[in-house]
Amino acid sequence: MSILSCRHVSRVYGQGEARVTALSDATFDIPEGQFTVFTGPSGSGKSTLLHLCGGLDLPDEGQILIGGEDLYGMPEKRRAVFRRRTFGFVFQAFNLMPVLTAEENILMPLLLDKRRKDEAWFQELTCLLGISDRLKHLPGQLSGGQQQRVAIARALIAKPRVIFADEPTGNLDTDTGTEVLSLLRSSSRALGSTVVMITHDPGIAALAERRIHIVNGRLKEDGAE
Ligand code: ADP
Ligand code: ADP
Repeated sequence: MSILSCRHVSRVYGQGEARVTALSDATFDIPEGQFTVFTGPSGSGKSTLLHLCGGLDLPDEGQILIGGEDLYGMPEKRRAVFRRRTFGFVFQAFNLMPVLTAEENILMPLLLDKRRKDEAWFQELTCLLGISDRLKHLPGQLSGGQQQRVAIARALIAKPRVIFADEPTGNLDTDTGTEVLSLLRSSSRALGSTVVMITHDPGIAALAERRIHIVNGRLKEDGAE
């Protein structure tokens, strides 16, 4: 069974002359463990699709199934809990809390969900991401690449089944971006997690297993790897 299944999903913003069809009849399946990117020009609907898949928006039409569960068929409160237990998020601007150390930032999702720290996984993850010697630093004391690696650790600490990443390399130079992407891939593989990522950078998109191209809210699938 696919981990993520999108069925005839559409999303329209605004009304009258300001009406925009951000996404039109999107249908696809993502098998567990696959590393997929959404690519396409600015304004094509990538963020809309990622937000819908991540339970952060509401589709106007269609269904999104996560491991067979209808994401928007459940009550909002349950969806919030489901999202925290099932998904990890990585953002372009890192979004770390500036007054918390790297370690405190990484552990935040566990704290929010009153879950215990799996010490072995914490060690493995921070070691894999090369940030073991930066755990007591504040985000402002780290480079961009290091901050994004901390954000990846935060996204993975609670062992999510799916990681959504919105332009995670957008604020990094090419070499750092490529390295961060490769670390996102290896750390998610260690967990068996699925990664769904947005990028408009063709060089980064080429590194994924699968590319779903979006133009004007319509999907065009590239040949899978
Ligand atoms: P991308 O991520 O590919 O840049 P988006 O998904 O952000 O594209 O946007 C798709 C389209 O929907 C664009 O035309 C954008 O202007 C429009 N849009 C996105 N969010 C909103 C919103 N909250 N209200 C109105 N229009 C929106
Ligand atoms: P990266 O390979 O992640 O791009 P950099 O070459 O930018 O790393 O940074 C090298 C070292 O300088 C890092 O170990 C980091 O701790 C430190 N550093 C980078 N930027 C800053 C900053 N704004 N404030 C404090 N230390 C920094």
